[in-house]
Amino acid sequence: METVRYNYRLRPGAVATRALLEEWGRCRWLWNEAVHQQRSKRKPTFCKLSRQMTDARARSVWLRAGSQVAQQQMLRTYSVALDRSFKVKGCGRPVLKRRKRCRPSLEYTVRGFSIQEGRLRLPHGVSIPVVWSRDLLSDPTSVRVFQDSLGHWYASFVVSREDTAVGPETDGAVGIDWGVATTATASDAAYDLPFGGHRKRCQAELAKAQRRMARRRRPRGQKPSKGYADAKRQAARLQKKAARQNTVAASVWAAQVVAANDVIGVEDFQAKFLAKSKNMARKAADAAIGATKRELIARGRRAGRKVVLVPPAYTTMTCSECLARAKRRMELGERTFRCEFCGYTAERDRNSARLVLALARKSLATVELDRASADGVRHFLAPFEGASVVLPDLEIPPGFSRREQLSRLLRRPGSPAQVVQ
Ligand SMILES: [Zn+2]
Repeated sequence: METVRYNYRLRPGAVATRALLEEWGRCRWLWNEAVHQQRSKRKPTFCKLSRQMTDARARSVWLRAGSQVAQQQMLRTYSVALDRSFKVKGCGRPVLKRRKRCRPSLEYTVRGFSIQEGRLRLPHGVSIPVVWSRDLLSDPTSVRVFQDSLGHWYASFVVSREDTAVGPETDGAVGIDWGVATTATASDAAYDLPFGGHRKRCQAELAKAQRRMARRRRPRGQKPSKGYADAKRQAARLQKKAARQNTVAASVWAAQVVAANDVIGVEDFQAKFLAKSKNMARKAADAAIGATKRELIARGRRAGRKVVLVPPAYTTMTCSECLARAKRRMELGERTFRCEFCGYTAERDRNSARLVLALARKSLATVELDRASADGVRHFLAPFEGASVVLPDLEIPPGFSRREQLSRLLRRPGSPAQVVQ
């Protein structure tokens, strides 16, 4: 079983919203108190903080009016954050939660919440309608109630589900190459994911909202106007909408690919590579390639598919038909790949995708075998977390090193290249 979060939109009324915000205020006060103790070297352990909280609740009506579970969870979160700050390098000590900077987030364990008649019930009679966009898989063990930048409330339930939901067997195989013009080019054109351009589409509207913000901005030190806040919310809403459209497009596409293919070769694309030029970086960010890749890998793994990550080195220069590598690098403007050895011609990205598939089929993790064996070995040994990179099943004759064996597998361009079975 694995533990996952299922998120649902909440639609709290005015009373429930006020109750949630008040609860957040109390929890925030407790957190900040713990931060002060840490700063004044009083070593706030979870035990100590809990005891102090009990005393404070006995004394203060204001604190007692809130949920003990939410308050205790806040202190638990604090001590986890504090522990982590000692153990993880570069992780700072927990800082104050300021009212204007921090968004509300409350945790409840099973003692502190229940689901009755489709509503989320919290302590002290707070009852919130939930938008049940999908079924909960199991009884939730805890819930986090939080508000996003648009002021919408969500509940994030912790549920457990089966490790794998193995999909039906198919004999399909697909290779995926990431790009800017087409977000994902597949070896089979049916599985292409076109560039959605969701952010680009709302750019004009976003610019309008941002101009409105600029017009309504007041000088420093003055309270921002209501109109400014409206414009700001409008801009945030547009950006969130585009991000959601990307997420949905990616998951629908990944589900399709995973449903029909047993072997999925994925180019191990690093987003940093495209971030060099401004225009490309913007398009790459818009396409959300990294998130799409993660989605595909996660879904493939869950369905029990063989997901092979192929490092992108030389994928554009190598022929997918005969696996011979061209002598020179292709320019970015060249859109057609033409093999000098066997004459195979294909669209550049299609060739890469087919090559990724060929390598995945051979369970090879890299094209770069004869040039830098160390690099090749590194790619073999350090796959992306969660994906399986399978070593080629080679019979190594006595007297041959692994490196020689691998270079026999993929001959250098120049001689008619072929794959030794
Ligand atoms: Zn060729």
